[in-house]
Amino acid sequence: MTETLHSPARAFGADSPLAYLLDLADQASGAPSDQEQRDDAETAAAHHVYQAYAYSLAGAVDAVAWQGYPAVREAGGRRWEASAVAWLDGGLWLHHTLRVTEADGASDVLTLIVPCTCGCGYVDIGLDSEDVLIDILTELRPTVGRSPHDDRDPLDCASVKTVPYIGHIGSPGSWR
Ligand SMILES: [Zn+2]
Repeated sequence: MTETLHSPARAFGADSPLAYLLDLADQASGAPSDQEQRDDAETAAAHHVYQAYAYSLAGAVDAVAWQGYPAVREAGGRRWEASAVAWLDGGLWLHHTLRVTEADGASDVLTLIVPCTCGCGYVDIGLDSEDVLIDILTELRPTVGRSPHDDRDPLDCASVKTVPYIGHIGSPGSWR
């Protein structure tokens, strides 16, 4: 299965005539194909990790561990940029995407997705730097990679009980 993170389920085969024709239309419009977006997302994620997390993530996450997903526009019009995820084992993921604004262009957004100790959901932790990552890992170490549940935190796991963009990723064993 090559189900994407946000896309509606595709009702035709990857090698079907319709897939070919839709790709053709993409190319004619000058827009990057889904596959190009996936490749670019994987490259951007690996590049960011090697640049900004040379001491930690670069040694832990192979470039080939990243799985890319094309950009998606939701029914409401919100656009999700292409993204890539890497499985860290133990229920933890890395998620990378680009935040694109007219003023600043593209900037990297790296998020650590950590299961909560309560078992009900995940907590998204934005990573700004390698120092932040090491601090977070130090906090996660006593709980062996679980984020301590916190009822008072409005951003805790209860607000992300189902994390939609990691819900359709293939089996964790598929990495590497
Ligand atoms: Zn919790």
